[in-house]
Amino acid sequence: MNARPILAVICLSTLQLPLADATEEAAQRKQEITRVGTQPSMVGSRQFFTGAVRIDPIWPADSGINASGSLVTFEPGARSAWHTHPTGQRLVVTAGVGLTQQWGGAIKEIRPGDVVSCPPGIKHWHGASATTSMTHLAVTGMAEGENVHWMEKVTDEQYSGPRAQ
Ligand code: MN
Repeated sequence: MNARPILAVICLSTLQLPLADATEEAAQRKQEITRVGTQPSMVGSRQFFTGAVRIDPIWPADSGINASGSLVTFEPGARSAWHTHPTGQRLVVTAGVGLTQQWGGAIKEIRPGDVVSCPPGIKHWHGASATTSMTHLAVTGMAEGENVHWMEKVTDEQYSGPRAQ
């Protein structure tokens, strides 16, 4: 029996092993589609929101992406309480006319397509305008199991405060 061909096969297999492992690992990862209608809408807690707020969870934070996504709809006049996010937040307005304010700043109007970037630890609120509802996609980072620190509610006086030009 000639041992040379066997040795050659072993060498070739050893060389290809890391690539084969990587390909196999990738093949085991599956695309996943979460179908619309499978994640029930939730009501925004009266403890943290003023007025009628609907939250539609889109995706949870997980080991792949450490930020959750949710669609939040505020009826006219509705808004979040003042709050901060430990690792920040991105808001993409998808419908209506909204308002947002950073502590110490003027209220800013936000409209569909606008992207609001909230840095970590910045006290702010977001919600609808007084007469028109607003929906935004909220992408919120997670740190040590938390994505928001709630504070006091936005008073009517604060809500109708000075607007940025
Ligand atoms: Mn926020």
